[in-house]
Amino acid sequence: MDRLRTLLESIDGKGYKAYKQLEGAWGFRRYRLLVDHVQGDPFAKPSRLRVQLAMDTCGLPEDLRRSTVRRIACEDYLGRAFSTAVAELARGQRGSGNSGIIEVSTSGQQVLHRNAVVVSPEQVEVRLRLGLPAAGRRVAAREAMAMLFEELPAIVEQTLVHANLPAAEVAAHVESIEDQQFLREWLSEAGLVAFVADGALLPRRSGVDDRPLARDVVAFTSPETLARSVDLPNAGAIRGMGVPAGVTLIVGGGFHGKSTLLRALERGVYDHLPGDGRERVVSDPSCMKVRAEDGRAVAQVDISPFIDNLPFGRTTERFSTENASGSTSQAANIIETLHTGCRTLLIDEDTSATNFMIRDARMQQLVVDDKEPITPFLHRARELYEHHGVSSVIVMGGSGDYFGIADTVIMMDNYRAHEVTAAAHGLAGEALGAHRDARARPFQLQSVRRPGAGTLDASRGGRATKIDVRGTRRLLYGRHEIDLSAVEQLVDPGQTLAIGWMLHYYASHLDGSEGMVDSLQEIVAIAQQDGLDGFSPWLEGELALPRLQELAAAVNRIRSYDWRGD
Ligand code: ADP
Ligand code: MG
Repeated sequence: MDRLRTLLESIDGKGYKAYKQLEGAWGFRRYRLLVDHVQGDPFAKPSRLRVQLAMDTCGLPEDLRRSTVRRIACEDYLGRAFSTAVAELARGQRGSGNSGIIEVSTSGQQVLHRNAVVVSPEQVEVRLRLGLPAAGRRVAAREAMAMLFEELPAIVEQTLVHANLPAAEVAAHVESIEDQQFLREWLSEAGLVAFVADGALLPRRSGVDDRPLARDVVAFTSPETLARSVDLPNAGAIRGMGVPAGVTLIVGGGFHGKSTLLRALERGVYDHLPGDGRERVVSDPSCMKVRAEDGRAVAQVDISPFIDNLPFGRTTERFSTENASGSTSQAANIIETLHTGCRTLLIDEDTSATNFMIRDARMQQLVVDDKEPITPFLHRARELYEHHGVSSVIVMGGSGDYFGIADTVIMMDNYRAHEVTAAAHGLAGEALGAHRDARARPFQLQSVRRPGAGTLDASRGGRATKIDVRGTRRLLYGRHEIDLSAVEQLVDPGQTLAIGWMLHYYASHLDGSEGMVDSLQEIVAIAQQDGLDGFSPWLEGELALPRLQELAAAVNRIRSYDWRGD
């Protein structure tokens, strides 16, 4: 501590580069401070520091970290507490550029596996960004001392020492997350693809604000016929709506809450903060929201189960385009995601291509079958479930065509769910048989494909790796700009950044012998097991774990023709 103080005093007023001498380890009374990388100037990205606190000092009860789920929940709690304390106890921006800033990355409403806080049996480590303060471009040592000797110790004391935290709240956080994981794992044994507990609050404040809608919310109640009960390890017995495996239709008038329900199911792959309203809404962890995404690039995807006989005899078994249409993009999205082992497709009419979803009887008469390249999803949904075990949950308020093929029909009426399967089946009548597409070949998933090494080259200009994000849905990877705006289950820029580094890892370990999905699956497994630190050449405390589905979705959206098939 004294050494650090002396050093800071000696560089006061010198050029900013003098801060470089801070790199290394510094002992404080309660913790160790590691300065891993000092920013080049006050306007650059803030410096990377770590705080390491011995577990004896932290005192986090062993029971709260006895399993991986619990440990991740603790890390999440500590990161949020730290971040809140920064806002309270640090003065923030002072001096030029990023002077004075202290940041630790945390999740939004979801609880994600991140690497900003790492709890191990020996210690708690927090990875920060800290803007070393400058006056103009000169070292402002007095300000630096205030940050390192007053602010940081106070923040650490208040948030990383368990005795100073609200113990009941920490425990409740951990227990809630554990319950959510239990609930999600229970789904498959219960024959369900999703569960929405009674009392859940589904609507959000806005499309860009993921917090619960504050006023006039109708809490969810399960229809009697779909109600299931389950015993959670911590909260005990709860009741809610089980969405069974199979083909499920969500119907109802406009503005009655159909899309809101589906969006909650999309997010059900993640754990949520207690109080979010969705902390007992869970879905099949492999489920994927698939939508139309016109304009996306597609590389060598076999979309023939949905689309064949294109004009000019274009083949669709290895379909490539720089600019897909609504229907071809939706077909590619489904095929690509099925390759990742997705067992549940989530589809909303609002974001689907109509001609991909339905073709009614009159249109079939007018445009004869051999002129129509599209086999609509309507004609594949049952087959996908019966022969491939892939369920679907489809929001469809505008057409009754799906009545005949649905196992379960849920009607949303004034934000209340009702089961109307029998009535829908009654109305379907014979329409179903007539709608079958006799011409269609059986659905098959084939062709293992992978990107060529050039596609995943992360270099740009003189730099060996250039990986960055613009928000959650745009990944800058080498010379590629990957547009993830239609990958709706990506929720955090840390996931997007992690995808970048995981793709780079994939590229550096690519030996061409395995299919892409197998390799990506292995990389996700490494991250789950060993954490996210191994993928970037330096410690990047801003990463959050993505799912295999989103990782694959990013590769599939790289604009490049360099793909290999078998
Ligand atoms: P639909 O897809 O049926 O047209 P939406 O799901 O888009 O309807 O919902 C329409 C509006 O109603 C949205 O603004 C949404 O926030 C709001 N909403 C949805 N569910 C609820 C609810 N349970 N309580 C209150 N408002 C809700
Ligand atoms: Mg809608």
